[in-house]
Amino acid sequence: MDLKAQINADEQLAHNAGGGEWKTLCTHGDDCPDYPSCSEIEGKDIKIYPEGGHSAWQADHITRHDPARVLREVAAKRAILAEFERDPQADDQYLAGLAFALERLAEVYGN
Ligand SMILES: [Zn+2]
Repeated sequence: MDLKAQINADEQLAHNAGGGEWKTLCTHGDDCPDYPSCSEIEGKDIKIYPEGGHSAWQADHITRHDPARVLREVAAKRAILAEFERDPQADDQYLAGLAFALERLAEVYGN
Protein backbone atom coordinates (compact mmCIF):
# COMPACT_ATOMS: atom_id res chain seq x y z
CA MET A 1 0.00 0.00 0.00
CA ASP A 2 1.45 3.38 -0.91
CA LEU A 3 1.84 6.26 1.52
CA LYS A 4 -1.35 8.06 0.42
CA ALA A 5 -3.37 4.87 0.88
CA GLN A 6 -1.79 4.30 4.30
CA ILE A 7 -2.65 7.85 5.36
CA ASN A 8 -6.22 7.40 4.10
CA ALA A 9 -6.48 4.15 6.09
CA ASP A 10 -5.18 5.90 9.21
CA GLU A 11 -7.81 8.61 8.78
CA GLN A 12 -10.64 6.13 8.23
CA LEU A 13 -9.71 4.05 11.27
CA ALA A 14 -9.39 7.14 13.46
CA HIS A 15 -12.81 8.36 12.35
CA ASN A 16 -14.27 4.89 12.87
CA ALA A 17 -12.83 4.95 16.40
CA GLY A 18 -14.66 8.19 17.14
CA GLY A 19 -12.01 10.71 16.13
CA GLY A 20 -11.68 12.09 19.64
CA GLU A 21 -9.26 12.42 22.48
CA TRP A 22 -8.78 9.60 24.94
CA LYS A 23 -7.38 10.25 28.40
CA THR A 24 -6.56 8.27 31.49
CA LEU A 25 -8.76 9.17 34.41
CA CYS A 26 -5.75 9.76 36.60
CA THR A 27 -6.00 12.90 38.71
CA HIS A 28 -2.99 12.13 40.91
CA GLY A 29 -0.36 13.83 38.77
CA ASP A 30 3.16 12.94 39.86
CA ASP A 31 1.82 11.26 43.01
CA CYS A 32 -0.16 8.54 41.19
CA PRO A 33 0.06 5.24 43.12
CA ASP A 34 -0.07 3.37 39.77
CA TYR A 35 2.80 5.33 38.26
CA PRO A 36 2.85 6.68 35.61
CA SER A 37 -0.93 7.07 35.82
CA CYS A 38 -4.12 5.20 36.55
CA SER A 39 -4.90 2.78 33.73
CA GLU A 40 -8.60 3.53 33.19
CA ILE A 41 -9.12 5.23 29.82
CA GLU A 42 -12.04 7.35 28.75
CA GLY A 43 -13.10 9.27 25.66
CA LYS A 44 -16.33 10.44 24.06
CA ASP A 45 -17.31 6.98 22.82
CA ILE A 46 -14.99 4.73 24.77
CA LYS A 47 -14.16 3.52 28.25
CA ILE A 48 -11.38 1.00 28.85
CA TYR A 49 -11.40 -0.43 32.34
CA PRO A 50 -8.26 -1.49 34.20
CA GLU A 51 -9.68 -5.01 34.33
CA GLY A 52 -8.71 -5.30 30.66
CA GLY A 53 -5.28 -6.22 31.89
CA HIS A 54 -3.29 -3.35 30.43
CA SER A 55 -0.69 -1.58 32.49
CA ALA A 56 -0.61 2.10 33.33
CA TRP A 57 2.28 2.45 30.87
CA GLN A 58 0.12 0.91 28.15
CA ALA A 59 -2.77 3.20 29.10
CA ASP A 60 -0.51 6.22 28.67
CA HIS A 61 0.62 4.87 25.30
CA ILE A 62 -2.97 4.29 24.14
CA THR A 63 -4.08 7.77 25.14
CA ARG A 64 -1.00 9.40 23.61
CA HIS A 65 -1.90 7.81 20.27
CA ASP A 66 -5.62 8.48 20.37
CA PRO A 67 -7.75 9.11 17.25
CA ALA A 68 -7.45 12.89 17.63
CA ARG A 69 -3.67 12.66 17.43
CA VAL A 70 -3.88 10.30 14.46
CA LEU A 71 -6.05 12.84 12.64
CA ARG A 72 -3.51 15.59 13.37
CA GLU A 73 -0.76 13.34 12.04
CA VAL A 74 -2.84 12.63 8.91
CA ALA A 75 -3.11 16.38 8.29
CA ALA A 76 0.62 16.90 8.80
CA LYS A 77 1.56 14.04 6.47
CA ARG A 78 -0.84 15.30 3.80
CA ALA A 79 0.69 18.78 4.06
CA ILE A 80 4.15 17.35 3.37
CA LEU A 81 2.79 15.34 0.44
CA ALA A 82 0.98 18.38 -0.97
CA GLU A 83 4.11 20.50 -0.71
CA PHE A 84 6.10 17.85 -2.55
CA GLU A 85 3.50 17.69 -5.34
CA ARG A 86 2.84 21.46 -5.47
CA ASP A 87 5.73 22.62 -7.62
CA PRO A 88 7.72 20.05 -9.59
CA GLN A 89 10.00 22.91 -10.73
CA ALA A 90 11.03 23.77 -7.18
CA ASP A 91 14.63 23.73 -6.09
CA ASP A 92 16.12 20.24 -6.37
CA GLN A 93 17.52 20.34 -2.84
CA TYR A 94 14.14 21.35 -1.46
CA LEU A 95 12.35 18.55 -3.31
CA ALA A 96 15.04 16.10 -2.24
CA GLY A 97 14.45 17.07 1.38
CA LEU A 98 10.73 16.58 1.01
CA ALA A 99 11.27 13.25 -0.74
CA PHE A 100 13.52 12.15 2.11
CA ALA A 101 10.83 13.09 4.64
CA LEU A 102 8.15 11.21 2.69
CA GLU A 103 10.33 8.12 2.45
CA ARG A 104 10.87 8.17 6.23
CA LEU A 105 7.10 8.55 6.76
CA ALA A 106 6.45 5.57 4.48
CA GLU A 107 8.90 3.48 6.53
CA VAL A 108 6.61 3.87 9.52
CA TYR A 109 4.18 1.60 7.70
CA GLY A 110 6.79 -0.98 6.84
CA ASN A 111 6.77 -0.04 3.15
ZN1 LIG B 1 -3.49 8.07 39.10
